[in-house]
Amino acid sequence: MVKIFIDPGHGGSDPGAVGNGLQEKDLTLQIAIRIRDILGSEYENVELNMSRTGDTALSLSSRTNAANAWGADFLLSIHINAGGGTGYEDFIYPNVGAPTATYQNIIHEEVIKAVDFADRGKKQANFHMLRESAMPALLTENGFIDHANDAAKLAQPAFIEGIARGHVNGLARAFGLKKKQINLFRVQIGAFRDKGNADSLAAQARSAGFDSFVLAENGLYKVQAGAFSDRKNAEQLVQHLTAAGFEAIIL
Ligand SMILES: [Zn+2]
Repeated sequence: MVKIFIDPGHGGSDPGAVGNGLQEKDLTLQIAIRIRDILGSEYENVELNMSRTGDTALSLSSRTNAANAWGADFLLSIHINAGGGTGYEDFIYPNVGAPTATYQNIIHEEVIKAVDFADRGKKQANFHMLRESAMPALLTENGFIDHANDAAKLAQPAFIEGIARGHVNGLARAFGLKKKQINLFRVQIGAFRDKGNADSLAAQARSAGFDSFVLAENGLYKVQAGAFSDRKNAEQLVQHLTAAGFEAIIL
């Protein structure tokens, strides 16, 4: 089990950097929540904790104290930059070496891969969050809130999602996290060698209100009407399809 502590910078009465109608505290919280949710839903053997999950003011000491008391394996502090510049950079405590420097290399690479930000490089700084944490720690600065182009990107939910995804990919690689195996119960209403037959059944099901599509698999064209992680939902769809005159099976 890997314990990852995520710290959205600033909060409450401390907005952090502001510019272009944005506040750092809101962006850091959005990014942190998505990192937590994606890691939690898609990866195994990872335990997650956050310094704050709402718009609350916290001292720097209370943040590192919480990470230390929880016994985190890694602390990730999320920030947005300001003060003239553009792009992404991240920081570790000066001269800590491995494994922290290795984690920085990996996470930096994955964030740069996932987002359209200029690469300002991997840096070191004597920041409280890095110095007072008892575990390897990384502080990321995700664009400049006072730079018009960076701010325009940060205002888009899809871009925030990309930043979160980059951090997740980095954390997963750095800590060797395995993806959860999700078993899907697929509802199938037909399988054909001829694509035309599959297409016409899918069209018929769609006109009856079932969201159907054709999937090519093992030399057959399969008409699928749904896929669920919960078997009960698949069974319910089979009942509706049967009542509408379709022959449905669960795979
Ligand atoms: Zn900050």
